[in-house]
Amino acid sequence: MTIKTKIIKRPYMSFWDNLYFPQIIKGISITAGHFWRNLFFHTMHKLGLFKAIQAAVTIMYPEEKRDLARRTRTRHRLTKRQDGAPRCVACMMCETVCPARCIYIVAEEDPDPNIEKRPKSFDIDLGKCVYCGFCVEACPEDAIRMDTQILDIAALSRNGMKLDMNELLNPDPNYARRITKI
Ligand code: SF4
Ligand code: SF4
Repeated sequence: MTIKTKIIKRPYMSFWDNLYFPQIIKGISITAGHFWRNLFFHTMHKLGLFKAIQAAVTIMYPEEKRDLARRTRTRHRLTKRQDGAPRCVACMMCETVCPARCIYIVAEEDPDPNIEKRPKSFDIDLGKCVYCGFCVEACPEDAIRMDTQILDIAALSRNGMKLDMNELLNPDPNYARRITKI
């Protein structure tokens, strides 16, 4: 069997690329073009004109937040039964399917004879999570969801990115702000 090798030439910079200034001027002209276009249309919108043509809008995040689509995958939570206990039966399906290997579950026997197991601990390391949603898809009990609408995830250490079972059962929307203020 012959293996075909495709040789790709290294792209060399042209004379104009080496001068840099044409590229700098090009970049500035694009930025300036957007600036004047947005300024013009925002002024026209104030005067009630050209309303159909959109201009760029700056959202002052994090003070101002835009609504997320309901299906957006946001920080995880564990759902509860009516008595407040986690719905999770520690089947390990989510831990097994997770491509980032960032779910850590320790199972124990459930005192309810109708339920075989429950999680003793359930941790997710958000520092490794790739937000694929496979854990939610794999769960046979609808015990884990990614619908908290919490996107602010920050910590001062790697350990700070780990959520334990209590945090997963009771998601705190101010989690990131609380962590970064420490
Ligand atoms: S979203 Fe994906 S990477 Fe994150 S915990 Fe779930 S399965 Fe793992
Ligand atoms: S797949 Fe669902 S029930 Fe199974 S361990 Fe994960 S969260 Fe619990």
